[in-house]
Amino acid sequence: MADAAERATTRLMARLDSLAGCTDGPGLTRLYLSPAHAAAIRLVSGWMRDAGLAVRQDAAATLIGEQAGAHPGTPPLLVGSHLDTVRDAGRYDGAFGVLAGLAALELLRDEGARLPFAVSLLGFGDEEGVRFPVTLTGSRALAGTLDGARQRAALDADGVSLGDALAAFGGDSDGLKAAAMAPPPRGFIELHIEQGPVLQSAGLALGVVSAINGATRARITVTGGAGHAGTVPMAGRRDALAAAAEMIVAIRRLGGAAPDVTATVGQIAAEPGAVNVIPGRAVFTLDLRAPSDPVREAVWRRIRAALADVAGAHRVQLEVVRTHDAAAAACDPALQAALERAAAAVGAPTLRLPSGAGHDAMAMATLCPMAMLFVRCRDGISHHPAEHVEAADAEVAVRVLAALLRDLGAADRGTDDDA
Ligand SMILES: [Zn+2]
Repeated sequence: MADAAERATTRLMARLDSLAGCTDGPGLTRLYLSPAHAAAIRLVSGWMRDAGLAVRQDAAATLIGEQAGAHPGTPPLLVGSHLDTVRDAGRYDGAFGVLAGLAALELLRDEGARLPFAVSLLGFGDEEGVRFPVTLTGSRALAGTLDGARQRAALDADGVSLGDALAAFGGDSDGLKAAAMAPPPRGFIELHIEQGPVLQSAGLALGVVSAINGATRARITVTGGAGHAGTVPMAGRRDALAAAAEMIVAIRRLGGAAPDVTATVGQIAAEPGAVNVIPGRAVFTLDLRAPSDPVREAVWRRIRAALADVAGAHRVQLEVVRTHDAAAAACDPALQAALERAAAAVGAPTLRLPSGAGHDAMAMATLCPMAMLFVRCRDGISHHPAEHVEAADAEVAVRVLAALLRDLGAADRGTDDDA
């Protein structure tokens, strides 16, 4: 006979399949404040109510299901992830964290466990930032770090402002600032698919996230001298693309030399771009990520110095413009340790790994302690219909989250006894 965790997981996997039916088009595309987003909120609200949660939506259209604690007045623990998707998405990115949270609460309820603290289950609406040129609207509103005016004015491809779309959706764009949670909650736990191949390679279902990597993006312009490919001797050339190629090799070497750092050149253009012309100009991008800001700055300085050396050797001009900087968000050490203890108790070995992708937890880190549990996804594929999580892995994740909530509750009761 299936035990309570197996039943909760069977329900979870069926719900993930049903939720994938809430889409704005063929395949799965669920954009912020779209009809599919409204349908997803209706569906998940129903499941939350069935589980005994009190359901509401905040100003940014974040779905919130609240379960009271045995001790009223204590700050709630937040659990959740996002309900929006990229275009032609998979069904686990985001949705898994919301519905696995619900499954853990249902599992505890079935066991007759009553937590001393309140739990709020969150379904954010705008993590992917696909519809509007802004992102993390729900989590940043909750954290109180939103620039309300800029967010409201953001336009989608049809010229509809986020403010107007939010008003039509039943949200409150003027209230985005006031959506900030006060007093601060006890913490935020986000379960999410890994979106990478590390857990699969290690043969593990779960990973405890150490930090969400900070990122620097830059645009690098190399200016040399264009010339005839046949008449200018090799020795006298100032070939911008040849210099850029050496720079890219240096970036790859320096990025790979530091643990958990990634350095990527994803775009390059050469001008004038003809088969028989020496390139006079090359422009390329850099995306540099690291789990801590000092490490990112150190690698950045090394890359910057290497680019200057190559430019000098090729007698080309170098212009480097930093176009984007986002700080790393460290996961709370106590919550990481608590997740590892809970996983050990369930018999699930874990490893610690940084998150190379951004998440709502990054915004929540400015509000309260946060932690993330990654679940293995097949071949590391995400943002694609082939995205897949094994039910067995989902079950381990649900068991660990339930154990974590149980342990935090037991620790509270222990503290009460001491007092
Ligand atoms: Zn996600």
